[in-house]
Amino acid sequence: MASIFTRIIKGEIPSYKVAEDENYYAFLDINPLAKGHTLVVPKKEVDYIFDLDDETLSGMMVFAKRVARKIKEATGCRKVAVVVLGLEVPHAHIHLIPMNNENDVDFHRAKLQLSPEEFKEIAARLSL
Ligand code: AMP
Repeated sequence: MASIFTRIIKGEIPSYKVAEDENYYAFLDINPLAKGHTLVVPKKEVDYIFDLDDETLSGMMVFAKRVARKIKEATGCRKVAVVVLGLEVPHAHIHLIPMNNENDVDFHRAKLQLSPEEFKEIAARLSL
């Protein structure tokens, strides 16, 4: 069965898209740690990031760099954290999280509750 992220990429499940190219897709995390928390995924469905072939893995980081630059510019954060963790979705993904101090990237913290309008507005600001 296709992963939830493959279904998002195909448009079967809605998402707040930030960027897309032939091989990668970036969209807002629905349970964000901060406004602008974005997921970057390869269109190729592979569970574990280090099982990706070298070209897809390196291309994913270059794509993420473009997205992160935009997040930094749009949010004014000090840096954008790059996090790979979690076992929830079996489709490799990178979390990009606007960060002003290290506590901003604590996944045990309560997530933000944003309205659809807020998600849309953030996605529009981050859109490449
Ligand atoms: P993890 O595997 O721990 O990195 O968790 C997967 C991440 O995907 C979590 O941060 C979820 O909030 C996020 N997520 C799961 N489903 C969706 C969805 N439909 N749209 C956006 N983000 C999602």
